[in-house]
Amino acid sequence: MILKTKQPLNQASPGTYSSPQLLDLFIGSTLEVFILVDTSLDIVVFNNVAYRAALKFTGKELKVRSSILNFITPEQKIALDTVFSLALKGASTKFKYHLPNITFQLTVMPVLEEFEVRFLSLTCIDITGEENALLKISAERQLLKLAESISNMGSWEWDIPNDRVAWSDELYRLLGLQPGRATPSKDLGFEFLYPGDLQLVEKTLSHSFKTGEPFNEEIRILAHDGQLKYMYCQGVVLRNAAGRNLKMIGTFHDITNKKLLEESIKRKDLRFQSLIEYSGDLILQVNQAREIVYASPALFDMMGLRPDEIMGDRMGLHVYPEDLPRLIKAFENMVENPGVPFTYEYRVVRKDGSNLWVEGTITNLFDVPGVETAVLNQRDISQRKESERLLQQLNETLEVRASRLSSSNVELERFAYVASHDLQEPLRMISSFMQLLSQKYEGQLDEKAQQYIHYAVDGAGRMKNLINDLLEYSRAGLKSGARIPVDMTEVLKTVALVFKDQLTSTNGKLIYDNLPAVIAEKSQMISLVQNLVGNAIKYKGETAPVITIRGKEKEKEWLFEVEDNGIGIPPGSAEQVFNIFQRLHSKNEFEGTGIGLSICKKIVEGYGGRIWITPASVNGSIFHFSISKPQPVAGQITNLV
Ligand code: ADP
Repeated sequence: MILKTKQPLNQASPGTYSSPQLLDLFIGSTLEVFILVDTSLDIVVFNNVAYRAALKFTGKELKVRSSILNFITPEQKIALDTVFSLALKGASTKFKYHLPNITFQLTVMPVLEEFEVRFLSLTCIDITGEENALLKISAERQLLKLAESISNMGSWEWDIPNDRVAWSDELYRLLGLQPGRATPSKDLGFEFLYPGDLQLVEKTLSHSFKTGEPFNEEIRILAHDGQLKYMYCQGVVLRNAAGRNLKMIGTFHDITNKKLLEESIKRKDLRFQSLIEYSGDLILQVNQAREIVYASPALFDMMGLRPDEIMGDRMGLHVYPEDLPRLIKAFENMVENPGVPFTYEYRVVRKDGSNLWVEGTITNLFDVPGVETAVLNQRDISQRKESERLLQQLNETLEVRASRLSSSNVELERFAYVASHDLQEPLRMISSFMQLLSQKYEGQLDEKAQQYIHYAVDGAGRMKNLINDLLEYSRAGLKSGARIPVDMTEVLKTVALVFKDQLTSTNGKLIYDNLPAVIAEKSQMISLVQNLVGNAIKYKGETAPVITIRGKEKEKEWLFEVEDNGIGIPPGSAEQVFNIFQRLHSKNEFEGTGIGLSICKKIVEGYGGRIWITPASVNGSIFHFSISKPQPVAGQITNLV
């Protein structure tokens, strides 16, 4: 043992230390660092432990009379200055002295003599182990707190014999409280329980109490702010060897979000389920072996079968045998095209043996996790099928009638043609003999007789016009020539030639420019335009006639307009003028037979077109007509299997 002194202790204070050997023995035998400094902080005495420690941690040798401050690291100096000055004033101070990898607890105590501080004793013990343990515990606590807050998990502890309860910070938060704000107790905990779950909790706790078994339960709580929360609780009772319940510890895990999600999924599931169950369509699920694994309740209405009567059956068992090969092919097709819906029409056999036409849409969902079947949506189309059958029947009847009508129409037109053609001959005779009569007896007949002859000739003339017009009308519907591209500008040129004299005499103008070509019979187009232009000149107003013809090509038809500046047609009569023999004027006002526009209508309708009138912007009328383009023959529509 090295025991160095500034001066012998018994000499420094003979009254206080009467047994220096004993003191030496004590200082030397202690395992603690021991240093005695005077009030100038110079070392008076130190023990071996202090000497070795100083050498080890500062690399310096402790020496009597050197200042203790030489052994203090600069970082600790400020704190130690305070410690020393406190000690010099008579206060003992403890101080944690940190060195790399080691922590000492330094105790500085004043040594008094006659109420005066004479020395300071410095004792040091190594507390590194304790420090580390404390640090570890605090780190673990922090980690636990972090884990609790991350996982929304709170914990509690109940010291049963002392009836003391502790809650973790997170448990406070789960209950909607500030950590530490309330004194936890069993009763307070129970106050947060959702009343409906109180019984369950009491039952669970008492069971665990009796048996010592751990418990886990889903319960609801009403947090401080009234919010309903779902908690997953786990707990365990700790017993001593004698079987006495000492502690109960447990956790609360907030599963509200999970619960709400589960409930919303459940609601969604219910919604979809109800869609399926209340749908009038039959929903079937079929596995790869074509066996029915699910059938919705519509099955009963559709087929008279209960789902359990059909479950596991091969689908084909319930299909009308004649339609089965088609359906098997369809199934194979569907298997090769995952996710693609295929729709088929077929007959199913009902429980009572009758057949029912259905339309089924089947989709391969074999690869869809959770579905792993083909889903078949089957609807009853028996009514549609019946309507289709009736419609077909009706169409056939109509076709028969139409063909009968068209042959009687042809007969009628032929009759009109023959009649008017044959009438021409006797009419020609009447009018020529009348003319002969008037020539032969010229000057011999009185005025009255001459007037009668004039009427007869005039009447015969009008009848001739009528017969000619009727002939044209009856011919208008007959297809005589080929339908070829007809340049309407050329048609207009021909018509202009016909009316050349009338246009000149009336100072009239026929305006047209670059009209489109149509697919039609040229003679019919000439007749159509000639009638319209002729009327425009005939029904001219007081000014010179100006007739404008415009035309344009549309997607499915050609549209033309013949605009005049004539007397116009009252809107109320715009439709009736197209009826045969309908005239708006007497023969005294305007000559005519009332057939021209009906010929136009017949021609236009023969091309699937329309003819109509609108008033011109100032005076006169605009005659519009359309000629439909020939439609390509529709391709055969591929029907459902
Ligand atoms: P018609 O000219 O021989 O009387 P239409 O069938 O050609 O027979 O014409 C029917 C009636 O329509 C005519 O009597 C006439 O009153 C009226 N009408 C036809 N075209 C025009 C027109 N451009 N302007 C005014 N009225 C017309």
